[in-house]
Amino acid sequence: MDFALSDILAARRVIRGVADATPFVPSPFMTKAAGHDFLLKLENMQPIGAFKLRGAVNAVMTLPDTVGGVTCCSTGNHGRGVAYAAARRGMKAVICMSKLVPEAKVNGIRALGADVRIIGTTQDEAMHESQRLCEAEGLVEISPFDDAKVIAGQGTIGLEMLEARPDLATLLVPLSGGGLAAGVAVAAKAINPKIRVIGITMERGAAMYESIRAGHPVEVPEYASLADSLGGGIGLQNRLSFPLCRDHLDEVVLVTEEEIRHAMQVLYYEDRIVAEGGSVVGLAAVLSGNVTVDGPVGTIVTGRNLDMQVFNRIMAGEDVRIGDLEVKGRRYGA
Ligand SMILES: *Cc1c(COP(=O)(O)O)cnc(C)c1O
Repeated sequence: MDFALSDILAARRVIRGVADATPFVPSPFMTKAAGHDFLLKLENMQPIGAFKLRGAVNAVMTLPDTVGGVTCCSTGNHGRGVAYAAARRGMKAVICMSKLVPEAKVNGIRALGADVRIIGTTQDEAMHESQRLCEAEGLVEISPFDDAKVIAGQGTIGLEMLEARPDLATLLVPLSGGGLAAGVAVAAKAINPKIRVIGITMERGAAMYESIRAGHPVEVPEYASLADSLGGGIGLQNRLSFPLCRDHLDEVVLVTEEEIRHAMQVLYYEDRIVAEGGSVVGLAAVLSGNVTVDGPVGTIVTGRNLDMQVFNRIMAGEDVRIGDLEVKGRRYGA
């Protein structure tokens, strides 16, 4: 395993001006709830509405000119980042996704001119199709999380947070395949070795959590979730994001669908921010008491790409159905 702060510093130079530095703002409500300064890194404000632009741009821009095109599997946001970066470079992009990916995310990717393929009902099936395309069509595959360039791009978020607030004691990082958490943890701990970096994910399909417990990558069943961006496995052949998360995360904490729904409402009604389920798990962990933190605390609001009809209904306190999942509504403040 060969990954270091220098990779992240190099990524910062590559992505400058494309995947821009985002605001890092205090949340008065969460500061009160946590009993410490609580800051939000607003990656929902990236041009594609999610942090994944950073890793995708770093990976695509550093490919040699001889590469004819790129492919990836995605729960939606990585595909959007790759499509955006490939379009900027004038490269062909084929994005493979499962039927679990919400229509709003699929449409966003099509709008960027990428070739979209919907395959199967799990992220793993989409991954196999993307790997098949590499051989069949001579495309280069860009993993959503198990790729040094992708991890380095995501790690630039850690640099920006620590530069803005060197006194941060805890980072709460949404966790799925672990590219984000790995990059952010390496960056943050290089600057402040004492900082605690905690990965947060949803109870339904916590692949990295189960893999760290088992000591090796394991497969977990995949379910519909409000945090659709956190779905999918980490890959049984995982080479980079698993060992980095295992070695650098201090803890992994789980949250329920109910806790995610509530945190989405808190972020909207208290901070006036529209965010998808996968991006509010840091708030959910604190509000539910599932984690105890030292301050100041930083969390990453990772994305905003959701179906606004569904979002409106959740905010109104209505029940919503996502695949086979029934999420009970509750009016905020009621
Ligand atoms: C991909 C994604 C995550 C998780 O990132 P990993 O690198 O897979 O752990 C979190 N939130 C959003 C919105 C995402 O798109």
